[in-house]
Amino acid sequence: KTIFNNVALLPPDALFNIKQRMSQDSRKMKVDLGIGAYRDDSGKPWVLPSVREAEKLIQEDPDYNHEYLNITGLTSLTDPAAMVLLGQDSLALKEGRTVSVQSLSGTGALHMAASFYSTTCKDKLVYLSDPTWANHKSIFEGKGLKTATYPYWNAASKSLDLEGYLNAIKTAPQGSIFVLHACAHNPTGLDPNEEQWATILKAIVEKEHMVLFDSAYQGFASGNLNKDAFAVRLGLELLADVTPVIICQSFAKNVGMYGERAGCFHLVLPHQDEFVKMADVKAAIQSQLALITRSELSTPPAYGAKIVAQVLNKPELTKQWHADMVTMSSRIIKMRHLLRDALVSLKTPGNWDHIVDQTGMFSYTGLSAEMVQRLEKEHAVYMASSGRASIAGLNSGNVEHVAKAINEVVN
Ligand code: PLP
Repeated sequence: KTIFNNVALLPPDALFNIKQRMSQDSRKMKVDLGIGAYRDDSGKPWVLPSVREAEKLIQEDPDYNHEYLNITGLTSLTDPAAMVLLGQDSLALKEGRTVSVQSLSGTGALHMAASFYSTTCKDKLVYLSDPTWANHKSIFEGKGLKTATYPYWNAASKSLDLEGYLNAIKTAPQGSIFVLHACAHNPTGLDPNEEQWATILKAIVEKEHMVLFDSAYQGFASGNLNKDAFAVRLGLELLADVTPVIICQSFAKNVGMYGERAGCFHLVLPHQDEFVKMADVKAAIQSQLALITRSELSTPPAYGAKIVAQVLNKPELTKQWHADMVTMSSRIIKMRHLLRDALVSLKTPGNWDHIVDQTGMFSYTGLSAEMVQRLEKEHAVYMASSGRASIAGLNSGNVEHVAKAINEVVN
C-alpha cells in the first residue's frame, strides 16, 4: 500500500513551466520567448502552406485510413528524409551504407540512439556540448550511459571556445561518442563556421570517435537545407573510412509539425573490409532498431509521417516547403536585427551584435538569471533562466517592448 509514498517529487520541467506561469499572467503585453516553437508576426503558431496542402491530399486519398505503420516506419518518409539530410550526391546513399527508420520525432531518434548504444557499446563515454539542450543528458543517462561535456560557449567573448573543444576531443578516450548539433545550436544559437567544422571533424577522425549529429533545425537556420547540412555531410565524408555516424532527424521545426512527432533515425556505416557483408550488418542493425520501436511504441505515429512524406515526395509541395522555410528563417533573422538595433538605439550597455550573429531559433542573450527574473516580474517577458531567448516569439508588435525591458534590467 505505501510502496510509492516516498517517491521523490521532481521540479516541473523548466521550459514547460514558463508556459504555465505565463498563462496565469493577466498583463496585456506579455511575451513568450521560452519554448522553441515558431510564431508568425502576430504571435500565432503557423501551419505551413505546404503542410496544409499535404493534409488535403492525404484526406482526399480514397485509400485514406488510420492503420498501423510498419515497425520501422514509412519508407516513403525515411527514404527521401535521408536524401534531404545526406544530399543527392551522397556517397553513403549511392554505396548503400545507410540504415534509416522512422522515429518519434527528434527526441525519439535520440532515445533510439541511446538504446542502441546501450546494447552495443555501453562503456563508451557520450560527450555533450557545454551547454546543450537539457534533454540530451536525461536521454543518454536514462539509458545507463555515462556522459561528459566538451567546452563550447565562451561566455566572456560570446563565441566558440574552439581551443577547449579541440582539447576535449584530444583528451577523450579513443572511440568516444560526440553528440554534435548539426546546425542552429540549442541553446546558444552559435554554430562553428565551415573552417571550424573542418578542424573539429578532423580532430574527431584522428581519435576515431563516433559522431551523433542531432539535426533538429535543418533549413530552419539559413532557410537552405544544403547549407544547414554542411556539417553532417562533411562529417560523413571524413568519417567514411573510420566510424559509424548516427543522425537524429526531427521534422518538428522545419515542417512545423511539433506535436505530430515526425522524425527519422539514420545510421551510416563506414566502408567495410571486403569479407564483411554490408547487407548482413545492415539487416542486423535494422532488426535491433525494430526491436527498440516494437517494445516502446509498437509502431511509430502515422499521421505526421504521412504529411511529411507528401511534402518530400510531391515536387510542388517540396518547392512550397522550401519557400516556407525561407519565410520562417527570414522572419527570425529580421527580428534579430530589430532587437539588436533597438538595443543599440536605446544605448543599452554592452555589445548586442551576438544577437544577429547567432542563428536558428535561439539567442543566448548573455542576460543573467536575475535579469531574466526581473524581465518576467516587471515586464512580462518570459525566457529561460539561462538567458536563452526564443527569437521566434518576437514580432513587430512586441520587439520594442522587449528591447525597452532588456534595457531597463541591464541598466
Ligand atoms: N534536439 C535539439 C537540439 C532540440 O532543440 C530539440 C527540440 O527542441 C530536439 C532535439 C527534439 O525535438 P523533437 O523531439 O520535438 O523533434
